[in-house]
Amino acid sequence: MVVRDRLPLLVSACLLRVPCNDKAQASTSVAVTDLRRDRRLIPVCPETAGGLPTPRPPAELHPTGRVRTEAGEDVTDAYERGAAQAVRLATTARVAGAILKARSPSCGCHEVYDGTFSRTRVAGEGITARALRQAGIPVWSDEDVEAGTVDLRGDDRGR
Ligand code: SF4
Repeated sequence: MVVRDRLPLLVSACLLRVPCNDKAQASTSVAVTDLRRDRRLIPVCPETAGGLPTPRPPAELHPTGRVRTEAGEDVTDAYERGAAQAVRLATTARVAGAILKARSPSCGCHEVYDGTFSRTRVAGEGITARALRQAGIPVWSDEDVEAGTVDLRGDDRGR
């Protein structure tokens, strides 16, 4: 799939070298970072935007739709606040789509961990990925960009 305009892209901030994940580290993707040569990239970290600290206890999305830490704390409200912020930002900036960190309980857009903290993957999407998709904003993962299954370099046609 080729996205042919030069509208900006919303991007998970941790992919762009921002140390905002649960361990206070980045999850840098060179392929995603390189997209800045062709487009404006707008970083967002929904978990911190929703009020969670960095570092923070890891959390996973349960089949119930709630997000819980391994100790059982329900952090769904913060995740939903962050998702709403991401949708607002994406809408205001009129992004072409969002590039999101794979398997995050916020940002995962194809699969997530199953809530057992055993690194078991299941098909599904994180709270923010779902909110963006439901708002009509296309979402892809960093792995889609790295695999070349979506071409986000864009060109000037149609502008
Ligand atoms: Fe990265 Fe998204 Fe997690 Fe923030 S919420 S650390 S942007 S995966």
